Amino acid sequence: MNCLICNAGAERLQTMSDWVELRCPDCGHYRVSGTFFAEIKAKNQSFSVEKARTWLEQQRHIDVNDAPMIDTSERDLVMC
Ligand SMILES: [Zn+2]
Repeated sequence: MNCLICNAGAERLQTMSDWVELRCPDCGHYRVSGTFFAEIKAKNQSFSVEKARTWLEQQRHIDVNDAPMIDTSERDLVMC
């Protein structure tokens, strides 16, 4: 599927959990919660590439062991 941030071809990782997990050649490895993913799709919204990548970069410094999860508390990353 396409990257939810930059729309490039990305690999969707299989997961049993309620999130979408993607590995994009440009944005890296990240997750979007199922709730937030559904909301974005319903509203036909997309992420601000610059804001989302900056946020992901910060999260990776905070938790180096796990892929960052974008959830509904990160609505600032969505373009209006
Ligand atoms: Zn991307």
